[in-house]
Amino acid sequence: MDYQDILNEIYEKVMSFKDRGIPASYIPELAHVNPENFGLHLRFNTGETYGVGAYHTKFSIQSISKALSLALASSFKNNEILKRLDVEPSGHPFNQLALLEIEHGIPRNPFINSGAIVIADILVSKLKNPKQDFLDYVRDITGDDTIDYDYKVAQSEKDTGHKNYAAAHLLESFGNLKNDVNEVLDFYFHQCSLHMSCTQITKAFYMFANRGKCVLNKTRLTEQRVKRINAIMLTCGFYDEAGEFAFEVGLPGKSGVGGGIAALLPEQFVISVWSPGLNKRGNSKLGMLALEQFTSKTQLSIF
Ligand code: GLN
Repeated sequence: MDYQDILNEIYEKVMSFKDRGIPASYIPELAHVNPENFGLHLRFNTGETYGVGAYHTKFSIQSISKALSLALASSFKNNEILKRLDVEPSGHPFNQLALLEIEHGIPRNPFINSGAIVIADILVSKLKNPKQDFLDYVRDITGDDTIDYDYKVAQSEKDTGHKNYAAAHLLESFGNLKNDVNEVLDFYFHQCSLHMSCTQITKAFYMFANRGKCVLNKTRLTEQRVKRINAIMLTCGFYDEAGEFAFEVGLPGKSGVGGGIAALLPEQFVISVWSPGLNKRGNSKLGMLALEQFTSKTQLSIF
């Protein structure tokens, strides 16, 4: 199969779309991004790579980072994750608070905001210099020291992230936040602001497709944890659109409101796409379409 031809065909198709969705603007700094951008990158476990469009351009990975923070938190012993979080799809938007109150401060899963804030709290407890150590972890698993936070995006979310402050206070009121709300959210906003390209994301997610071994061949996760994180990506990676993503694309993955999506087929490949316009559920509109086209044309999905 000629994968470069397939990527080119997908690129031509998505570029012909008039309705590209709407970039997130609730984080003011994200609203400046040009919705015409589109990048797609494919990395096979064999080392072969293919790309089309703006796949070297860096963007705000936002909630894609939640898979990486979960991976780092799961790698510690006595990490409390299973006591403090559930692993069920929420069926609700990523920032919804009602369920958290009804379910006594136990987030449905680590990929909705409240769940990711609990993971951030665990990392703030475990890491000496949380922001630097998390950045070093991402640089380590990718073998790429140029990766950094976008401090303007982090500040922009700090200034406007009222629902995340509300979630953190609600968690604290139920005894499910151990550190200071401001410290945990400062970490969480920086984590979400990671500025990466599609090529860097496919490297970072390679360990999920490669039984826990990252691109430099170092083991960073056990096989059991990889299995579990991939399961959570499949069932919860796209919030109230997780069913639709499994139905249309058929891969575990994680989206972000920056318009990026990372998805993978265990033992085979990682694919990452970026198109800033979002659909009504906060997932990249053309990104989802591109991945549906890819798995339909190649018949490479977990189903
Ligand atoms: N930082 C964003 C938030 O907390 C992440 C949301 C997302 O990408 N879905 O709202």
